[in-house]
This record gives sequence, structure tokens and C-alpha cells, in this order.
Amino acid sequence: MSDYFNVSDIFGECVFNDTVMQQRLPKKVYQKLKETISEGKELDLETADVIAHEMKEWAIEQGATHYTHWFQPLTGVTAEKHDSFISSPMANGKVLMSFSGKELIKGEPDASSFPSGGLRATFEARGYTAWDCTSPAFVRHDAAGATLCIPTAFCSYTGEALDQKTPLLRSMEAINEQTIRLLRLFGNTSSKTAKPSVGVEQEYFLVDREKYLKRKDLIYTGRTLFGAMPAKGQEMDDHYFGAIRERVASYMKDVNEELWKLGVPAKTQHNEVAPGQHELAPIYEEANIAVDHNHMIMEMLKKVAERHGLMCLLHEKPFDGVNGSGKHDNWSITTDDGINLLDPGKTPHDNKLFLLVLTSILKAVDVHADLLRESAADVGNDHRLGANEAPPAILSVFLGSQLEDILNQLVDTGSATHSLEGEKLETGVKTIPDFMKDATDRNRTSPFAFTGNKFEFRMCGSADSISEPNVVLNTIVAEAFSDACDVLEKADDFDKAVDELIAKNATEHKRIIFNGNGYSDEWVEEAAKRGLPNIKSLVDAIPALTTDKAIKLFEKFGVFTKAELESRAEIEYEGYSKAINIEARAMINITSKQIIPAVVKATVEIADSVIKVKEACGADVSVQADTLTEIQKLLKETKESLKKLQEVVEIAYEMEDGAKKAMYYHDSVMTAMEELRAPVDSMEMIVDKDRWPYPSYGDLLFEV
Ligand code: ADP
Ligand code: MG
Repeated sequence: MSDYFNVSDIFGECVFNDTVMQQRLPKKVYQKLKETISEGKELDLETADVIAHEMKEWAIEQGATHYTHWFQPLTGVTAEKHDSFISSPMANGKVLMSFSGKELIKGEPDASSFPSGGLRATFEARGYTAWDCTSPAFVRHDAAGATLCIPTAFCSYTGEALDQKTPLLRSMEAINEQTIRLLRLFGNTSSKTAKPSVGVEQEYFLVDREKYLKRKDLIYTGRTLFGAMPAKGQEMDDHYFGAIRERVASYMKDVNEELWKLGVPAKTQHNEVAPGQHELAPIYEEANIAVDHNHMIMEMLKKVAERHGLMCLLHEKPFDGVNGSGKHDNWSITTDDGINLLDPGKTPHDNKLFLLVLTSILKAVDVHADLLRESAADVGNDHRLGANEAPPAILSVFLGSQLEDILNQLVDTGSATHSLEGEKLETGVKTIPDFMKDATDRNRTSPFAFTGNKFEFRMCGSADSISEPNVVLNTIVAEAFSDACDVLEKADDFDKAVDELIAKNATEHKRIIFNGNGYSDEWVEEAAKRGLPNIKSLVDAIPALTTDKAIKLFEKFGVFTKAELESRAEIEYEGYSKAINIEARAMINITSKQIIPAVVKATVEIADSVIKVKEACGADVSVQADTLTEIQKLLKETKESLKKLQEVVEIAYEMEDGAKKAMYYHDSVMTAMEELRAPVDSMEMIVDKDRWPYPSYGDLLFEV
């Protein structure tokens, strides 16, 4: 890795991007591909053949020996199967490098062992990967050499989506269609397409690799299952935005360099709230690419960490008692000619299109709060949402003072006549220039906040794919736009109908707006009064996927069929049970094989010292004796809790897959896990540090 480099020289150098395509593809082929990418037109096999050939030549120049269809099955991580470019040896014993259009557009991984939630029996192993030309192919360099990675969708033999990308692309088509329909009603004849823009802020932890390898819980589950709190936590607020340490800075530099080469516009980096926690945010891109890039970011964060003797933890709650990690999904809608539908302009009160868009989004979020909540749920995120950490599990929307004021005018009088303006910021220091403040302050506790010209959905989990939240957002907003168009298309007096619709949406859905402190207990009460759902866990959230309301929504816009939704619900229940089962078994192993033996040794040592000290001088050995008694008491508690955990895990394991089993893991197994953790963490505080079998929270969080 070079020490210094020019970003514009390396940016996108490993990507089969527009510049490369323009240089390499015959003009007609290039144009056809462009039409497919930007307007969604179909692509024929002949054109694909030409593209495949040029893509291969370019990749080989980059050193590639293999290609892979890179896809996102419902495992939470990406999958790939590598094929080399070599064709069968010729008579002279040599080989040619080949790659056909068919190989580019279609792959057939033997897919029977990816989760399908009953969509495909194991004997029907066929699954297809299909080229997504809207997300550029790239060459990845690593220990395996160089590999041409082709972003693909993954479907069953009968065309059902088995991945994250297919529904996302479908939902983008839905919102495109409804947005253009709405724009036409407002007299826009120039915009051809409208796409969701997405910018994903990614939080993560870094720990030392050597220490990580001594923690079986981190290795097997990605989070610590035991661990007493260190003397210092995050209470000093000295880590957030603090100066970045050398070791971490050098890691971030390498991550950026690798990402830039792959065309990922990594932009912002800083320390986060918890010690050892950091954030990376790229510049926003069209949803599909942003989702792919987020996967690449997660992979790169992990890969580069190992090179630096570090490990990157993407889990939502790697450490109890300190801040967990999330992923903020910044979302807006942009047309091909650069209109951002969420841009309020200087005087939002008279921007009718904006107000209709805004109030339609309020309606969408209010009506489908349960679905949005579900889209952000994953096993790890249960430790944040609705547990003792923010953001809360209740969905509400923060608009800020300016927009809230406009909404109030609409609700009270049916129309809005003025917009609050930002004031001058005066610091009281002459040498600091005064400047205009934003019309609205920020709110860090809101799960769904309007931030200037976009919404920021903050519930999402750090380890989860960001696809599902965007699928839901795109589809529910498409529905709200479609409802609006249905009304406006029939209206005799368009302007009047628009005003009425804006006021109606604002009035009917104002209960979803909350500008106060989302972390407070009062809000939980207030939200209950307003009838807003407070869904506490993943298992409680999953049913939202298969309500009549959800099925009607997703089927109407061709995003999911009923069968696909049911399969997803099943996969999530199963995934939950499996994840908790692994955690419970890891706890059982660590307790039986590491903790109890270590503590037993420690007690023998103390007992020895009691006898020896007494023999040697007859001194008071009550400190040793008290410590011993205390440890023995905790050890007994540990043993009993261990037995209890073993029992419930056994029961859970025997249960048939599905909601009941997941619920049992949630209610009984998780509780038994907590009961085991308590005495173990107490013992960690008493037993000799050198005797303790794994590095402490302090070692992991502060000694990076
Ligand atoms: P904030 O401070 O409000 O979190 P940032 O400027 O740090 O905002 O941006 C956070 C993320 O939002 C970045 O990925 C950024 O590119 C993205 N973003 C900015 N504007 C938009 C927009 N109009 N639509 C979607 N994402 C956006
Ligand atoms: Mg942000």
C-alpha cells in the first residue's frame, strides 16, 4: 500500500464504470446498455455477449483470473461462487480465456442450502443469479488473486426472490412509476425517472485481534456474552468526535483507499460515542448501488482490520453497558434531471408539491409503522431497539420547528401562509463571523428524522443489510403517492384538491409526529395514548410481514408475493432461533470449559493460602476466607444457572421451527442466559485477573 496517493487517480480504478464502458464498448452497444441502466429497458443476449467479452478483457488486464456472480441471499451476508475464465483445453494443450453473454447474465449456483423459507424444497435445488447491470461490476484484489465481481439478483426456479436485491429493484420500479405519475400531475413533463437516493452511515467497533481470538463469544457470536463493566465507560463523552488514534487512523486510511478504488465514495469518518467505536459514511448514491456499496464497506472494514492486527465488530451490541452500533439510512427521491422531491425550498409553505410529498410520507410511515419497525429488526438489534438503548422501538417522525409549524397551520386552518426562518448565529466573539442558522435544530433521539432535504431512518442495525428498510420505504411511499394520484387524477379543481389532500394527510397522520425526547418514559406513555405501536423485539415484529395490509401493499406494487412474504417471515423466525441457540451454546461451553475450571483453580489457590498463612504465622486469614466464601457462593449460582440454561436449550432445540420456537428462545433461553451471566460477571470482579480466562471489557475497549 502506497503512503500517499492522489484520490482522483485511484477512484474507481477497479470498476467497470461508465468511462470504461464508453471507451471499450461499440457505440451502439454502449447506448443500449445505458438505456437499460437508466430507463429499465430490456437487454438482448447479443448485446450481452459483446459486453461480456469486453468486461472479461478489461478484467484480465486488471489481473483477474476468475469471475463471480456476487449476490445477497437471506443470510445477511453476500455470497459468491468463483469460476475461472479458462475454457476446455484445446488440441494443442493450451486454454483460451472466455466469458459469454450467457455467463454474464445468468448463473446457477447449487442453491439448495441457502435459506428459502419453504419456497423451494431441497430436491428442487435450482436457483438462478441474474446480472444487475444497474450496479457496476468490479475487480476485487485479495489473497485469492483478482476476481471480477458481477452484482446479481438471486431467484428460485419459479422466479421467487431469494435475496435482498430483487425486492429492492422491484420497489425502485414501484416508486419510480408513482413519482413520475405524481410529477406529471404537477405539470412536470421533463423528468424521465425518479429514484431513491440513499446514504448509509455505518457504525462499527475495532478491537485488537490477539485479544479477540481469546474470546470464544466474539468468535462464535460477534458479541460478548460475558464481561464486567470496566472502571471507565463512555460517561466522559471524550471519545465522540475525539482525535483519532494513530493505529485506527492508519486503518481508516487503508479502508478509504480500498473503497475508493472500488468506486465507493467514502466520505466521512469519526470516532463514535463508545470507546473503540467509529463511523464511516459514503456520499449518497442511487439506492441499489448504495446497498451494494454498504455490503462492500462492511466486507472491507473487516478485511482491512485483519491486516492491521485488528478485528472489526459489526454486531449491534458487542458490549453490554456501552453504546451499540446502528446504521442510519438517509433517504430521498431524486429525478434524472436533478429534482430532489424532499427539498423544501426557501418557503416550504407555498411549495405544494413538497408539502404533498411530505404529508404522503407521514401517511406512509403512520400506516406502516409496523413494517418499518420490522425492516430494522434483526437479532442483534433487539439489544438496542426497545431495550435500554436508543433509538426507541416506537416509530415517530421528527420534522423540526419550521415544518411542524407549517403542519400546524395546515391542520388548524386548512392552509399554510408563512414559513419560519433561520436566525443569525451570534457567538459573542467578534472574530468569528456570524452566519445564518438552519431553520430547524436537529433531534438525535428520533428514529425517523427530517434532516434538511432527506429523511434519516435511524433504527437500522449495523450488521444487517440495508436493503429491507429501503424496500419498505420505497413501497410504502409508492402507495401513498399512488393514493394521492388516484384522488388528484379525478379532481375537477386540481389546486383545491391538492390543498385539501395536504390538509387531510396532515390532520389524519399528525399523531406520528414527535419532536421531543424519544428516549424519555413520558414518550412511551404518550405514544401508547396516540395508539402508536411499540414493538419490542424481532419475534414480535415478524408478524407485520404477513398481515393482510402488508400482503395487499406488496402485491399491489409487485414487490413481494404472499408466498415470498411468508417465506421471509419463516426465515426470520428460524434465523432468530439459530442465532440464540448458538449464543446459548457458546455460553454453556465457555462456562463449563473455561470459567468454572479457572475459578476452581483460583479457589484452590486461595484455600492453600488460608492454610499456609495460618500455619506460618497464625495471622488473621478472614480476608482470604471471606473471598473464598463469596466466590464459592457465586460459583454455585453459576453452576445452577448453567444447568437451567442447558435444560431450556434442550427443550428449545427439540421444538419445531417457527414462531413458537423463536418465542421460546426469546422468553426462556434469553432469560436463562442473563441469569447465567450475572454471577459470572460478579466473579470476574473478584478473581485474580491473571486467572481469568479471557480479556476484560477494559482490555478490549481501551487497549486498541
Ligand atoms: P447528517 O449530518 O444529517 O447525518 P451528513 O451530511 O453527514 O448528514 O450525511 C449523512 C449521509 O446522508 C451521507 O451519506 C450523505 O451523503 C447522505 N445524504 C446527504 N444528502 C442526501 C440526500 N438528499 N438523500 C439521501 N442521502 C443524502
Ligand atoms: Mg446522520
